[in-house]
Formats: sequence, structure tokens, C-alpha cells
Amino acid sequence: MSKDDQNKRQEWHISTRITQLGRNPFDHFGFINTPTYRGSTVLFPNVEKLETLGQNYTYGTKGTPTTRALEQAWTELSGAHDTVLVPSGLAAIDLALITATRAGAHILVTDSVYQPTRSFCDTILKKFGVIVEYYDPLIGKNISSLIRPDTTAILVESPGSQSMEIQDVPAISSVAQAHDICVILDNTWATPLFYPPHQRGADIAIEAGTKYLSGHSDILIGLISANERWSKRLRSTFNSFAIGASPDDASLALRGLRTMALRLRAQERAGLEIARWFNEQSEVAQVLHPALPDHPGHHLWQRDYLGSSGVFSVIFKPVEKKSLDAFINSLQLFGIGFSWGGYESLVLPFDCQSYRTATHWKTIGPAVRFSIGLEDSNDLIKDLRKGLNYLSL
Ligand SMILES: *Cc1c(COP(=O)(O)O)cnc(C)c1O
Repeated sequence: MSKDDQNKRQEWHISTRITQLGRNPFDHFGFINTPTYRGSTVLFPNVEKLETLGQNYTYGTKGTPTTRALEQAWTELSGAHDTVLVPSGLAAIDLALITATRAGAHILVTDSVYQPTRSFCDTILKKFGVIVEYYDPLIGKNISSLIRPDTTAILVESPGSQSMEIQDVPAISSVAQAHDICVILDNTWATPLFYPPHQRGADIAIEAGTKYLSGHSDILIGLISANERWSKRLRSTFNSFAIGASPDDASLALRGLRTMALRLRAQERAGLEIARWFNEQSEVAQVLHPALPDHPGHHLWQRDYLGSSGVFSVIFKPVEKKSLDAFINSLQLFGIGFSWGGYESLVLPFDCQSYRTATHWKTIGPAVRFSIGLEDSNDLIKDLRKGLNYLSL
């Protein structure tokens, strides 16, 4: 893909651009999609090519035309300088953190972070001598008071996992820039379609492509994009670990990319409809959806986001555990399970209180996360309405 192609695409709406990115049919006999290239060894036609590494592909761990197609598509979509692919979203976060810190350094991690990220920080990073400090996700520019001379990275995740706090990434980023600190953003919820991560101040952005990029709950993949300042270091860490995503998964992710804008818009619409419906139910204490005006982070969401995806949380009024369980068990259209972003709706009870350390997370009743899929929203609401009867028994 040449710079000219890229400039031409800038004029198009994002829905158009995602149909064009990461493919070049006439490199592949005119076939529309980039084929799945599997391979370890790549042959060189002669010794000179071998010695100069004078060709596009040199070894399977460095990528294939399939993985590179997805990397290039994601780089352009994210407004990044480069992207690497790894086998899961969690691996993406781990690699980003390892790229941006070193033994003895200090990092700041939002208290609302995805729990397995916290686990990685508290075990592997600590084992290698990194000092991990958790901070209040709503800290904004006051993050400056936590910066130390040896702070190397700030991890932000917006909205917060399960609890849905919206972070002021531009404010945090402007403080970080003044101290030459790497801002890593977990952008999985919004995707680059609803939040252009590097434009908002992230140096490195990660996406669990397992969720909305895949859209079908059939692959695990992580994408790490970086701006110009960080892309060389990211690529070098990636090459040392040699944990690339498989070409088959990259191919499925490219297929998912073509419908991602459509799916996200549909899930945004249905998500909002259902969140508003929950807001009117007498069993509900609070709906945590940043696109609703009564969400505490709504003003930041409005300022910075281009849309909302289909994941939000609901705090119910106090109720016995067995009634809540009966409600969840009764749902026919909501699977009980981790992850989200697929075509099927999911439900998950959660409690952040047990692992938070910088802030106290307290709700008046039990919390449940919903991921809205591609079903008809009236059918989903009917299913939920029936289920709510279990809460008043
Ligand atoms: C799911 C998720 C991840 C991890 O992705 P996996 O591919 O499941 O490892 C990371 N961050 C967030 C916010 C997620 O929701």
C-alpha cells in the first residue's frame, strides 16, 4: 500500500476505508482477500539476498503477507506508525508493558484495569523489579503528583473494565509527555473506530482483537499499535519474544474487520436501547453506560469518543444472591461467560471490590456486565423482562 493510496483513503468515511485496508488483490492473481500464508522457512534465491536480508519476508516469526496485511490495516485505522500482532489481548498488554519499562523503574496502572493485566503486573513485572503503583482512574491531570524520576509508563484503560470509568487520556498524556513517559492505552472497548487512540495521546495502544475485531468468538488475537516514538522499541521487543499471531487467526481477523463498523454501530444502537430500558426498571439502582447523560464520565465520553460499543454494566438494588443467580440462569439469549464483542449477547456478574487497591469500589447491590450482540433488541428486552421477575420474588 503506497502513501498515495493512504492519502486517497483519508477522504473516505471510516466504513469505506475498512473495506479497502490491508489488501492488494493484484499481488494475489486478483483474488479480493489476502490469502493465508503459513510458513516458517522463507527461501532466498541466492546467497547475496540471504546475506543482505534483501527481501520483504525472511522468516515466519517476523510475519507473513497475511499477518502484515492485518498489521498495515490496523496501523492505518489506528493512526499509528506500526502494529504488531500477538496471540491474545493479554499478551498484547504484557508485551507493551515490557517494551515500556525496565528493572527498578516505576509504572502507574489504573485501578480499574482488566484484572489479568493486574495479575501480570503483580507477578511477572514485580518479579523483575518493576515498582507497580495503582492510581484512581478519575485522577486526570493530577497524575502529575504521582510521577517519580524513574516513572517509565502509565497504563490507562478507558472505560474501566467492568466498572466503566472514563479516563481523561488527553490530560494524562500531556503530563506524561512532559516527563517522557510512555502512555499505554487498552482501547479494546471503543476500538479505533470509536476512539482514535494515538490522536488522543496514547504512545502505545492495545486492542484485544478477540472481541470486536473478530466479532464471532472464534479466535484470540491481540494488536499493539505504536506511534513513531515507540514503534522501533515495540518491534524489537516483539522480535525478541517471537510470539506472533497465527496467519489463520490474522486471516479471520481481516474478515472480521470488513464488517466491524456495521457490527459496532448495530451493537451501539442496541446497547443504548437496552441500557435505557434498564434505567427505567424498578429493580435497577444504576446503569453504568458512558453514553447515558447520568454517567459520571459522560462529559469526557462526549468530548473524546465517536461512539459507544455494546458493553455496559448494571448495578441492581440489594437482592439475595440466589435471586440474582436465578435471574441470570433464566436468560435464554445471554450466554454466561468471559470475553465479549461477539454476535451473541453475554452476561457476567462481577465484583471489583476484592482486588482494588487504590480506590474503594462499593455499590449498593450486585453488579452485572452485559455485552449486547446482534440479536433483535426487542427479543433481548423480552428475555430480560421475564428474568427480572426472579429479582422481586
Ligand atoms: C478481553 C480483554 C483483554 C484480553 O484479551 P484476550 O484476547 O482475551 O486475552 C484485555 N483487555 C480488555 C479490556 C479486555 O476486555
